[in-house]
Amino acid sequence: MFSCWLSRLCRGLSTPTGRVTHLIQGSLSRRLMLSSQRRIPELSSFVARTNTCGELRSSHLGQEVTLCGWIQYRRQNIFLVLRDFHGLVQVVIPQDESAASVKKILCEAPMESVVQVSGMVISRPPGQENPKMPTGEIEIKVKSAQLLNACKKLPFEIKDFVKKTEALRLQYRYLDLRSFQMQYNLRLRSRMVMKMREYLCNLHGFVDIETPTLFKRTPGGAKEFVIPSREPGKFYCLPQSPQQFKQLLMVGGLDRYFQVARCYRDEGSRPDRQPEFTQIDIEMSFVDQIGIRSLIEGLLQYSWPSDKDPVAVPFPSMTFAEALASYGTDKPDTRFGMKIVDISDVLRNTKVGFLQDALSKPQGTVKAICISEGAKYLKRKDIESLRKLAADHFNQEVLPVFPKANRNWNSPVAKSIMEEQRSELIRLMEIQEDGVVLLTAGEHRKACSVLGKLRLECADLLEARGLVLRDPALFSFLWVVDFPLFLPKEENPGELESAHHPFTAPHPNDIHLLHTEPKQVRSQHYDLVLNGNEIGGGSIRIHDAELQRYILATLLKEDVKLLSHLLQALDFGAPPHGGIALGLDRLICLVTGAPSIRDVIAFPKSFRGHDLMSNAPDSLPPEELKPYHIQVSWPADSEAEKSSLNQPYHPES
Ligand code: ASP
Repeated sequence: MFSCWLSRLCRGLSTPTGRVTHLIQGSLSRRLMLSSQRRIPELSSFVARTNTCGELRSSHLGQEVTLCGWIQYRRQNIFLVLRDFHGLVQVVIPQDESAASVKKILCEAPMESVVQVSGMVISRPPGQENPKMPTGEIEIKVKSAQLLNACKKLPFEIKDFVKKTEALRLQYRYLDLRSFQMQYNLRLRSRMVMKMREYLCNLHGFVDIETPTLFKRTPGGAKEFVIPSREPGKFYCLPQSPQQFKQLLMVGGLDRYFQVARCYRDEGSRPDRQPEFTQIDIEMSFVDQIGIRSLIEGLLQYSWPSDKDPVAVPFPSMTFAEALASYGTDKPDTRFGMKIVDISDVLRNTKVGFLQDALSKPQGTVKAICISEGAKYLKRKDIESLRKLAADHFNQEVLPVFPKANRNWNSPVAKSIMEEQRSELIRLMEIQEDGVVLLTAGEHRKACSVLGKLRLECADLLEARGLVLRDPALFSFLWVVDFPLFLPKEENPGELESAHHPFTAPHPNDIHLLHTEPKQVRSQHYDLVLNGNEIGGGSIRIHDAELQRYILATLLKEDVKLLSHLLQALDFGAPPHGGIALGLDRLICLVTGAPSIRDVIAFPKSFRGHDLMSNAPDSLPPEELKPYHIQVSWPADSEAEKSSLNQPYHPES
C-alpha cells in the first residue's frame, strides 16, 4: 500500500518542478527523514539467529529463540554467559541425561568459542535476578547447541578491565575489537557518520563523490606517500586531502560536494595523528565563511549523539591574534580561564634587569598567567618543573610570583615589585588569595607560546591534585578566524609558506597588501577547535587564476607547472567557492573520551606507523621491485633488516 502510494507520488514528482511539487518534495523528504529516524534496526534479519543476546527481556518470556555468540563466562557447568555485539545473556546448561550431548558441548567449549544455542526464554528464579544486567530478569533454557568454532588459548582475556599493552592489542586487533569499549566507539562513529550523510545529502542536497587515491605530488602542505608505477621514474602520490579534486568539482558545476575521505600524510608519529586518517570533506560554490560555519554547526548539532548534552550553536569565534595573545596557541582550550595577560605597562619601570632588557627591544613584552589556588595545590617542585620545561623547550625564563600570600619561592622579582605595581597586577590579573603568577619576558609570540604551554601543564597538574578545571562532559567549540595568509617557513624564515594551504583566498580587506607586505595579509581561513584540539579547517578559495598564479609563483616560489591543471580550470569560469574538512578520527575520539585516536579506528597504525597485526610496511624481494624500475639502497647499518626479509616477524613492543 505504502510503496504503491510512494511510487505514484515519486512518478508525479518527476514532472518538471513547480512550486506545488517543491512543497510536496519538502514534506516528503521531511516525512522520510522522520520515519528513518524512528525506525528500529532489524538486527537479526538474514542470519542464523532469531534474536540478539542483548535484546531479550521479560517481554520475550516463553519465546523459542536461537542465539549465536561467544562464551564469555561459565559457572559450575550450570550457567553460561553468551555475548554478542548487543550484550550478554545467561544460558542454563541442561543437566538431565537426555541432554547429555548439549551439556558436553557447552561445558567443554573453551571460553570465547563461538556457539549457537536454541531454547526458551524463561524468568530467573526469584532472588536470582541480576539488576546490573539489562537481560538480568531472564535466562535461556537450552534445548540444542552447536559449537560453531572453538577458541584456542587467547593472548589476553576479552574483558575491558584486563590490562594489556597497546602493542598486544594492535597485534590481535580482531580480538581487541570484541571489547565493549571498541564496539561502542566504532558503532558511535558509524551512527554519527550516517547522520552526517543524512544531513548533507538528504537535507542539504550534497553529492557524495569519491576522488582518486592515486594522485601526483603537489606543492605545499604535508609530506606525501610515494607509490611506484610501472613507468620508469614515474610515481604516484597518495593525496594528503582531496583539496584539488573538490575544487575541480566546483569548476565542474557539482555545486555541493562531500566525501568521507581517506587522507594520507607521511608525517611521522604523533599521539593524535595517523599516516592515514579520515576527513569529512566538504566544498560548496557561491558560499562565504558564515555559510560554511553555519553548515558545520548544523551538521554537528544534527549528528551529535543523543546521550550527550546537545550542541549549542552558533559557536563562538576568536581571531588568530586574540587566540595567540590570550591562550598562546591557535587552538585554545576555552573550558577554563588562566588567560595570558600582557603586564608590560605595569612593569615598565621595574629595576629587574631581564625585564628591562626584554622591554627595551622592539617586540619586547612581559606576560603572565595566574594559577588560581596555585599556592594551595602546586608544590615547589612543580613550579621548578614548569620553569625547566620553559627553559628546555622554549629557551625562555619563567619566574613565579606570589603577590598575595607573599611567599617567596625562588622569586627574585617579587621583592623588586613595588607596592603599587603589586596592586595593579592584582587588579589586572584578578589575582585571588593563593594565586600564583608565572611571568616571562620576551618577544610577543614566543612569550605567549611558552605561557600557553605552561597554562595547559598547570591544568594537568591541578587536575592531578583533584581540582576539576575541564569538565569532561563539556564540549567547548570555537571558531578561530583571521589567520595570517602566510607564515615564515620553519626551515628558512626568510621565505613564506601558506598558513593553511596555497589555495586559500586572502582577506578581502588585505588584498592590497599582497604586493607590498604579504606577511601582514590575513586570510579567509577558519579552524574549528574543540576543547583545545583542532578538529577542522577550511577556507574560501582563490577562484581567480591570475591571483592563484601570483601567490604560487611569486610569493610561495612553487613550481606552477605542477598545478597547471588547476590554474587552467580556474580560467574556465570557476565559480567562487569554499570548503572545510573535519577530522573524523579526532572528533570521534573527543566525543567518546577515548585516550587516543587509535581507539576509534578499527585497524590503526602503531605509533611508528606500522600495522602490528600484518607487519606492514613489509619488505619485497628484489625481483618484485623490478617491474617498478626501483631498487632498495640499504643504509649502512641495516644489515639486520636486509637479512630479516625471510625472518619471522616480531611486533614492536
Ligand atoms: N583540504 C584541507 C585540509 O585537509 C581542508 C580544506 O581546506 O577544506 O586541511
